[in-house]
Amino acid sequence: MTFSGFQLLKNALNGGTGWTPHWRKAEPKAAYDVVIVGGGGHGLATAHYLAKEFGINNVAVIEKGWIGSGNAGRNTTIIRSNYLLPGNIPFYELGMKLWEGLEQDLNYNAMVSQRGVLNLCHSDAQRDAFARRGNAMRLHGVDAELIDREAVRGMAPYLDFDNARFPIIGGLVQRRGGTARHDAVVWGYARAADRRGVDIIENCEATGLRREGGKIVGVETTKGFIGANRVGLSVAGNSSRVAALAEMRLPIESYALQAFVTESIKPLIDCVVTFGAGHFYISQSDKGSLVFGGDLDPFPSYAQRGSLHVFSDVAENAMAVMPMLGRLRILRSWGGVMDMSMDGSPIIDATPIEGLFFNGGWCYGGFKATPAAGFCFAHLIAKGEPHHAAAAYRLDRFATGRIIDEKGVGATPNLH
Ligand SMILES: Cc1cc2nc3c(=O)[nH]c(=O)nc-3n(C[C@H](O)[C@H](O)[C@H](O)COP(=O)(O)OP(=O)(O)OC[C@H]3O[C@@H](n4cnc5c(N)ncnc54)[C@H](O)[C@@H]3O)c2cc1C
Repeated sequence: MTFSGFQLLKNALNGGTGWTPHWRKAEPKAAYDVVIVGGGGHGLATAHYLAKEFGINNVAVIEKGWIGSGNAGRNTTIIRSNYLLPGNIPFYELGMKLWEGLEQDLNYNAMVSQRGVLNLCHSDAQRDAFARRGNAMRLHGVDAELIDREAVRGMAPYLDFDNARFPIIGGLVQRRGGTARHDAVVWGYARAADRRGVDIIENCEATGLRREGGKIVGVETTKGFIGANRVGLSVAGNSSRVAALAEMRLPIESYALQAFVTESIKPLIDCVVTFGAGHFYISQSDKGSLVFGGDLDPFPSYAQRGSLHVFSDVAENAMAVMPMLGRLRILRSWGGVMDMSMDGSPIIDATPIEGLFFNGGWCYGGFKATPAAGFCFAHLIAKGEPHHAAAAYRLDRFATGRIIDEKGVGATPNLH
């Protein structure tokens, strides 16, 4: 079924009985041209672009739980392309352009909202760094505006401008940035891929990566062996564990990251605000809840939950920049597992095992990358060579020294 105004009207009149399931509950075939391991946003986007852009429809996406049960359904939904380094800007800008046409491409309301992303600055040094980043963005054709304190006040009058420790002196704005509804992105890609013949197989965990003579020949799963001579790993927080099935050791450590949601209030925050000096970011969902987050837990973990002391640290940061938040009640918090790479940038590359491809190391930032990562990973799997926008995301860059250290903090994953 194609969604349209006509379908909406028809189903409004027939009590909603005409809607059909978004995707089939597929069971595995004996073999596919490509198997993607991981039914998060990236895995499903990869399958969609493999089918749509590269004509490879005989594809399975296998997911150990239900699709979107990993980080795709746990993030704070921010999308942006405000990066500094040449290895990153073209890739994230490709992502922004794909977000801008995503709903038409998928025929699905992913609630993409270009409400703007405002980064606050609190010192001359931070403003200089923002000016540099904004200039780098503009040189790459990406929108960026450096604004002063009064312009920030106009955008976000609810912030504390005169905090003695963190007085706000200006900000960097990307007006094309914003948010998208994370679950809808997963469902939209799943539905679009399914319509092109992709099998989405839930409750199917990859337990082994079968190789013969240095080549991949398929995946052992909890639903039996599935043959494929091209396999893509897109398992985010589980990257190291799944790569270990092929005796690969990745330059990645896994850490928990939490998010928090308040009770719903009337419209207050109409953009995304980030407070980098303390590390806190916030936006308002369409239901009215304030959605916010901050730092990683400081130690590696595979638990999909975080520590209370990090929550209290995030709350302190929130109060430093937006004291009115102290009047709100927190409804929920949850955690996801971040695959932190050693330079804070992702990896989209072929592995030393023929036919085995890897997409991971997304750290905090993989949701915004979903369309571009899917597109570039599909390109790599289909053509055997990297897409030019993702050409810097090589697996061997930690050996060759061509790292993309966006934050300049070196090989300390929990600081990226
Ligand atoms: C609290 C929080 C806030 C965040 N905020 C943002 C943000 O605002 N903006 C942003 O850009 N990014 C954000 N992120 C990061 C972003 O969510 C991730 O980088 C991104 O979702 C990772 O890609 P994915 O969607 O494919 O991952 P996932 O959804 O994690 O997909 C991987 C899938 O692989 C499956 N899997 C794992 N092992 C196996 C196996 N052996 N067999 C089969 N399946 C397997 C998992 O169950 C999972 O569903 C945030 C993350 C968290 C946790």
